[in-house]
Amino acid sequence: MKYAAIKYTDIANGPGVRTSLFVSGCTHHCKECFNPETWDFAYGNDFTKEVEDAIIESLKPAYIKGVTVLGGEPMEPANQQALLPFYERVRAEVPGKSIWIYSGYTFEELTDTGYKRAHTDITDKILSLADVLVDGEFKIELKNIRLRFRGSENQRIIDLPATLKNGEIVISEYS
Ligand code: SF4
Repeated sequence: MKYAAIKYTDIANGPGVRTSLFVSGCTHHCKECFNPETWDFAYGNDFTKEVEDAIIESLKPAYIKGVTVLGGEPMEPANQQALLPFYERVRAEVPGKSIWIYSGYTFEELTDTGYKRAHTDITDKILSLADVLVDGEFKIELKNIRLRFRGSENQRIIDLPATLKNGEIVISEYS
């Protein structure tokens, strides 16, 4: 997997001060996407173990609340494969830090076993490791600059542990 950028001490993509990883590759091609260079799966730099190490190290200070993974599309099947070991490392090595994932796919698409564009045999595992999924494509006609942590009205900030426990969508307190 390639990644386009890493932002340390980011306050725009989730609560508190975070490290944000912008991965490469996205097949949604939303109109007026904020990051069209990341559509190309070959854009940017290799996501190596050294890069993972640097991100994990950045999460260690007490004032860092967690990591946010966005793009690009972290839930493209190829990117899921590359990111699952990283999420497992975050959980094991920096427990207590939150994991936010932004996806153009909806929760329903990601959990639909018949939706082969996004659902893989590891998708459920990834969703069980993360705290929040901000879901849905960016829709320019629903753009609202007053929204916090999302760009358009259709997108939802989903509390994943509560959603998976209840069996229905639970919107995060951060909405
Ligand atoms: S899902 Fe995100 S990165 Fe992909 S086209 Fe839409 S806004 Fe851009």
